[in-house]
Amino acid sequence: MIKTRFAPSPTGYLHVGGARTALYAWLYARHHGGQFVLRIEDTDRERSTPESVQAILDGMAWLGLDYDEGPYYQTERMDRYQEVINQLVDEGHAYRCYCSRERLDDLRAEQMAAKQKPRYDGRCRHLSDSPQADAPYVIRFRNPTDGIVVFNDQIRGAISFNNQELDDLIIARSDGTPTYNLTVVVDDVDMGITHVVRGDDHVNNTPRQINILKALGANIPEYAHVPMILGDDGKRLSKRHGAVGVMQYRDDGYLPEALLNYLVRLGWSHGDQEIFSREEMIELFDVGAVSKSAAAFNTSKLKWLNQHYIKEGDAELIAERLAFHFEQQNIDVSNGPALADLVLAQRERAKTLVEMANNSVFFFQEFDEYEEKAAKKNLRPVVLGPLQALRTALSEITEWSGEAVHNVLITTAEKHELKLGKLAQPLRVAICGCGVSPPIDVTTELLGKETVLKRLDKALAYISDRAE
Ligand code: GLU
Repeated sequence: MIKTRFAPSPTGYLHVGGARTALYAWLYARHHGGQFVLRIEDTDRERSTPESVQAILDGMAWLGLDYDEGPYYQTERMDRYQEVINQLVDEGHAYRCYCSRERLDDLRAEQMAAKQKPRYDGRCRHLSDSPQADAPYVIRFRNPTDGIVVFNDQIRGAISFNNQELDDLIIARSDGTPTYNLTVVVDDVDMGITHVVRGDDHVNNTPRQINILKALGANIPEYAHVPMILGDDGKRLSKRHGAVGVMQYRDDGYLPEALLNYLVRLGWSHGDQEIFSREEMIELFDVGAVSKSAAAFNTSKLKWLNQHYIKEGDAELIAERLAFHFEQQNIDVSNGPALADLVLAQRERAKTLVEMANNSVFFFQEFDEYEEKAAKKNLRPVVLGPLQALRTALSEITEWSGEAVHNVLITTAEKHELKLGKLAQPLRVAICGCGVSPPIDVTTELLGKETVLKRLDKALAYISDRAE
């Protein structure tokens, strides 16, 4: 059974790079009918925060990256790491190192001066006793001194490291806490991870982890190291590029489908297909086809995808997400059109849900002022008569519908020898407060008869005032 994991350190937001790694690991598992594990690597207590943990959980939930196991927390597994550290020491795969910080600093300085790669020289490797009782120590893994470590990265191909280049890494600090490479190995073994999909900033850790895995007699997982994401200036993506947490994209009015689709294509392709439903992603994703080189983030493409999903997506689902944005703006939508109908009416005109919500406030709230330019142009004394006649005719409609309104508009315009637009646009400004809305029949139907008449009265009064 294939089992992958996403193992973020909760030291900041779940950013787009992390989300893409999570997506690839999740897709790999789902494609193969395997399982996906979420593991929070929170052993760095200084930098880990509960807010970051929450941001990760929220981001995963919002993107719909569901996990079969977890979230596991490394801080809850400390006893287990200790057990493995002891086992490695007992079996001779690890040893206590008493070298002082000064000695290590000197050693490093010497090696740098001699233009050598700084590395631990193995002085304590063969000590059989502690130099003095209670002397502080760290625990180092006894890395093999010769031979090579080779692994076949599913994205980057064969990668090999010479053991001579890897020194004896610390697996437990002097306070006894385990280090990253140890905890990852223990977890990957205990959780039965068969495929490690992670950022390529971990490539150099992989041979070390493989050596520890071998010492434990464990199976070596397959690895796939995902290249990083760059900003459009070619530099590593960071906050400077407006790259923020995944949840910021929700707040900015993006649909999770759009972000997922964007992320899956960022560094992976399937022919020239651009649009992938969740099911298609699962069916077609192949980690081996992920590009070896870094991908550049492109906000306009994300916007384009967002617009696509707003236009084509399931209206009920989009409505649920739109509700969030009205809530954010403290707009009560209970006394207005159903949000799914609103989505159908507005979806052609919005690139984001924030935009859609902003353009739709008049469906739920009275407005105090007209948009200045629109009012100046459309609510003029010349239309007072025709608008009054329209008001009367509209009030006589018994079965209120967009079609009925449309018919009334046509006959009224004809009677006053006006082009339809010369009457419809003033009506629009009167009932929307601005010059842009869905088609007038749709708008009037969604607003309902009562609101339309009330707002028309207000506009008529406004024009009369203006006339005086
Ligand atoms: N916790 C590590 C990180 O956030 C990832 C570890 C791994 O995937 O092996 O970068």
